Amino acid sequence: MNPFRYERAADAPSAVALLAQAPNGAFLAGGTNLVDHLKLGVRQPELLVDVTHLPFDRIEPLPDGGVRIGALVRNSDLAADRTIRQRYPLLSEALLAGASGQLRNLATTGGNLLQRTRCVYSGCPAREGYHRELAILGTSEACVATHPSDMAVALVALDAQVHTLGPAGARTIPLVDLHRLPGKEPQRDTLLEHGELITAVDLPPLAFAARSRYRKVRDRASYAFALVSVAAALDVADGVVRDVRLALGGVAHKPWRAWKAEAALRGTPATEKTFQRAAEAELADAQPLPGNAFKVSLARNLIVRTLLDLLETAEEETQP
Ligand SMILES: Cc1cc2nc3c(=O)[nH]c(=O)nc-3n(C[C@H](O)[C@H](O)[C@H](O)COP(=O)(O)OP(=O)(O)OC[C@H]3O[C@@H](n4cnc5c(N)ncnc54)[C@H](O)[C@@H]3O)c2cc1C
Repeated sequence: MNPFRYERAADAPSAVALLAQAPNGAFLAGGTNLVDHLKLGVRQPELLVDVTHLPFDRIEPLPDGGVRIGALVRNSDLAADRTIRQRYPLLSEALLAGASGQLRNLATTGGNLLQRTRCVYSGCPAREGYHRELAILGTSEACVATHPSDMAVALVALDAQVHTLGPAGARTIPLVDLHRLPGKEPQRDTLLEHGELITAVDLPPLAFAARSRYRKVRDRASYAFALVSVAAALDVADGVVRDVRLALGGVAHKPWRAWKAEAALRGTPATEKTFQRAAEAELADAQPLPGNAFKVSLARNLIVRTLLDLLETAEEETQP
């Protein structure tokens, strides 16, 4: 590991100011992703700014009925929070589907969002290599790596907003826009500028998110990244889809909001057939590689099964 300076930030503005002076420096939160990269030599920062003592460790109600999650709320605490479990169960399920208990105890909301893609290649010979975990949507010639965070998939489905403080001031970014598709700059995972600190994530009020699910398919039952995952919330009335939120993990360089499937579902009868058509509409643009073509049918089946599960729950709830 290369030598580096360590500073503990007293407040958010000084954390930002410290990092602004270190072009290769980084914020340190739980360290569960960053420290791996330091050990592997993937990152060689001259300065680490420890942000773990900043006052962003609370989950608070917002005046509009939404919820604010501080950037330093640990993944375990967020998953266990009563409000999150009751009102946004897909978020709790997504967190519990990720990493391990020990890692979740350290990992933070901000760090989870900014974990790097887990590509074993550098170069990039991935297209001619082993494809099983790679992307099928939104890929470029330069990169076919997938975004690793489970939590981010649930947050994208929920229309979460990210608050940041950077050298240019504070801003709010829709989470769906935070992560980038690779294009010609695959090394830039997000649109954040150097030294921009995530301070909080807001969940808007969404009554039907109380009926939501996160489902993850992976090669082992635990401690593995998603081959494909689905975050879904469904609002059904009189057998018709009134509203829906759908996002996919493990298929693209960013958490993939399934806008086309959502549009195909709204106002249609809630049946297996319409769920299937919607999934196919979303996956029509998929460009799988020879070794991951299975992800197209896996994603389709996972979307359909998850929506059917939510429909069954809705029907049970409305039975006299
Ligand atoms: C073995 C293993 C298995 C895993 N499996 C999964 C899995 O199945 N699903 C899953 O989703 N994740 C998985 N993870 C990843 C884990 O969720 C992340 O490592 C963790 O969430 C990162 O959070 P952290 O606080 O430790 O971030 P850190 O490692 O501290 O930071 C990560 C990055 O974010 C930056 N950063 C941190 N906080 C902020 C902030 N507030 N503002 C701006 N930048 C910031 C850091 O500079 C760094 O670049 C796994 C990790 C390991 C080691």
